[in-house]
Amino acid sequence: MVGKEPIFLKKGQNTSLKESKIQNSEKETGIIFNVEKFAYQDGPGIRTLVFLKGCPLNCLWCSNPESQNAYPELMYFENKCTFCGRCLEECPKDAIKMNVEKERVETNRETCENCGACTEVCLNDARVIKGDKITVKEIMNEIKKDDLFYRNTGGGVTITGGEPMMQPAFVYSILKRCNDLSIHTAIETSAYVRWPIFSKISETLDLLMIDIKHMDPEEHEKYTGVSNELILENIRKISEKPSIEKVIRIPIIPGINDDRENIKKTAKFVSEVGIETIELLPYHELGISKYKALGRGYEINSTPPDAEHLKKLKEIIDSHIPVVRFEGNLDKRIMQ
Ligand code: SF4
Ligand code: SF4
Repeated sequence: MVGKEPIFLKKGQNTSLKESKIQNSEKETGIIFNVEKFAYQDGPGIRTLVFLKGCPLNCLWCSNPESQNAYPELMYFENKCTFCGRCLEECPKDAIKMNVEKERVETNRETCENCGACTEVCLNDARVIKGDKITVKEIMNEIKKDDLFYRNTGGGVTITGGEPMMQPAFVYSILKRCNDLSIHTAIETSAYVRWPIFSKISETLDLLMIDIKHMDPEEHEKYTGVSNELILENIRKISEKPSIEKVIRIPIIPGINDDRENIKKTAKFVSEVGIETIELLPYHELGISKYKALGRGYEINSTPPDAEHLKKLKEIIDSHIPVVRFEGNLDKRIMQ
């Protein structure tokens, strides 16, 4: 797999953006693919999660593959399709064909331009475009609606994706406004971003959640498309800023990064840089159907780890790190 530059080589991205040009403006626009309200994970209290499109990594187990490309894209959910044929007539690129034998329609992804015309006539939501352009002002109006819940529960806003820092001006402008309103701010990041941008955005954060997918640079590149060197360097540097709460998250992907040696190395690294919390994210299969909906294959053949194995991995980390927990409410189920 070919490695990518930290910023930004995907269609739809601003390749010339420099950290000094990160404007703080409510007119900034970004591309998001979801806003989840009343979330109880990815930070304390009740939260609004904002999901941004675009990621410089291509983790093969990604449960949000619709987040990876920076531009809006078509998803087709075959199970909702009634085979009515309305979408065929609407496509200006003639990209949709009936497959009578398989009782479904097929989209030529080479000619489809993700224009969304076919989604307008699909009455069953079998075709949807994932990715909306939105201004900072619009997303702030949404965020502010739940201010009371944030205050009563110690919650706030979490920007996730995708890689939020691929849209730095948009994210910075949102977070600065949250700071002004005393709304708790968190971000989930791969940390695969140039340091000046990472540092500038981090200034606006109460909580920084960073993934470490593998400690071996070559294995990291094999499964995510990029080396881990920049990521580890950014973690080392940000650890020197004590004012931000930091959590390292490890996706546990059986057969890829869940061997004792890798987990031990990760825990030792995190301990050495002085970060005190690790969260484990056990692999699940909930995102697999989305690959098909995007017309893509699913390249790994993993299965969710069992509770016994997860307990053993937690024990390894426990001897290095003060706080080790599982994502969301998995703790109780796994540790019973
Ligand atoms: S998104 Fe546009 S180009 Fe693509 S299949 Fe639908 S109508 Fe055709
Ligand atoms: S319009 Fe929707 S339901 Fe009808 S064939 Fe197209 S995808 Fe299927």
